[in-house]
Amino acid sequence: MRVHLVNPSDLSFGTAVITPRWLYVLAGATPEKYGAPIIADETLEPFDAQTVEVGDVVGIGIHTGNALRGYQVGRLAHERGARVVFGGIHATLYPDEVRTHGQADAVVTGDGDFVWPRILEDCERGTLGPSYDGGRVEGDSFVSARWDLLPVNRYMWGSVQTVRGCPKHCSFCSVWRTDGQKPRQRGVSEVVREIVALRRKGFRFIALADDNFYPVTLADLAAARRRSDPGRLETLTALRQERFDLMEQLADLPDDMVFFTQITMEAAEDPQFLAAMRRARIRGALVGVESVTPEGLKAVHKGFNDAGDALVTRLQAFRTAGVHVLGSFIFGLPTDKRETFDLTAELAQRSGITFAQFVTLTPFPGTVDFEKWAKEDESAAIEVNGVPLSQYWLVPPAERPKIFSPHPTMTAEEIRQGTQRVWDRFYSTSAIWQRSSCVESLRARVAFVLISKLYRQMYANTGIATDSARVARSAKRARVLAKLARRLFVAEPMPELVEPEGLRERSKVAQRLSPA
Ligand code: SF4
Repeated sequence: MRVHLVNPSDLSFGTAVITPRWLYVLAGATPEKYGAPIIADETLEPFDAQTVEVGDVVGIGIHTGNALRGYQVGRLAHERGARVVFGGIHATLYPDEVRTHGQADAVVTGDGDFVWPRILEDCERGTLGPSYDGGRVEGDSFVSARWDLLPVNRYMWGSVQTVRGCPKHCSFCSVWRTDGQKPRQRGVSEVVREIVALRRKGFRFIALADDNFYPVTLADLAAARRRSDPGRLETLTALRQERFDLMEQLADLPDDMVFFTQITMEAAEDPQFLAAMRRARIRGALVGVESVTPEGLKAVHKGFNDAGDALVTRLQAFRTAGVHVLGSFIFGLPTDKRETFDLTAELAQRSGITFAQFVTLTPFPGTVDFEKWAKEDESAAIEVNGVPLSQYWLVPPAERPKIFSPHPTMTAEEIRQGTQRVWDRFYSTSAIWQRSSCVESLRARVAFVLISKLYRQMYANTGIATDSARVARSAKRARVLAKLARRLFVAEPMPELVEPEGLRERSKVAQRLSPA
């Protein structure tokens, strides 16, 4: 019985930016007796069903965006006589759909870390059940990834998770409902150990692939103090301290290492945290700006963000602290007007953010927005190819609509074109060259231009274009650019790299404290 793990994707680029962590975590959770899993990441190359033999187990992880392709993979694997097991956010939300469309023999809901070895045992014994609930694994029990199985020269960045869950409740996001609002922070030693393993292999850029790297804000601490809630205050203070401990350890890693994370804008008001990020070489952060207007922020339940000039000041605070921002903006909110596109493009430029992504409002399953839309909006019942829009992920990508409900003042095409225009403006060669002055050498500036162009090809043209020829052209260009860009990110491997002194001390203390 061999074990396969597949990350489905409609587009393959030959080279990928970030290592898909879940594949290597499940490989880490696979008991040794089954051998090393055969890993297929379709963002690199399409899955080859011929590698599957009767009796094998094929694990497929899906989110809404790749569910349809995942179902194709499931059917192919099933035809070859394999036991097919689905997991991931979309499988957690729609286990029955996964059984029907993906021919799943078993579906996992929740985290896979602990339940995966049990599934394999059951496959071996012939007692595989239809459903397994992995629950929410505590931070100190997250399984470490098996980076020794990474293919050579295919990825630009390593990825390590330091915390799951997010205390916020944005209406367009499913993270707080699927991963929970309680931050589950992983032990510092385990995080650093994985990063060391990646640097030994030559990865010097690491994505801290967290839901929210800043789970405790100064406002949270002040609220706990005001409420005279010592228990809560103690918990929050300990969580915050652990973030600082982690950043202190990151600072001790080889000084060519660079980290990138996801964070809420509130961190801009925490100079101590920003200073620690700088020392830790966390040089970039994805910040969900979402909307540049107060009405837009209210519409997505993101009142903790700022709008207008206050927003510019907050974003500039990151830049001043040496943290480059990848700002994420949403278009198509009911409060958006025709002028919102130019307003956003102008603000993105003025605020000094380094990269930006502009997406159209999409009701993702598991979110408050989706539930409201599916229940109340007539457009959710409209059929495309016989599929109701409320199950739009079952429509092939080329025919899938980009806008999901009628906008009060704009047509769907106006929103799509407006979004495309803002991408074009932000990523015009002259604007990119101007922004590239944030790095010093000519080589670094050229690298900056290349990466900006790659980002645009991979995410803008393949994401919002309606024309499949344009998508195919972009994927082809991205293939070439990605191969070039990878060389700019990786470094010489450091097989002899030892873990930081503090970490080893920490482990010794942990050993002394842990019961024999
Ligand atoms: S969008 Fe970000 S801040 Fe909001 S709930 Fe999701 S992870 Fe948390």
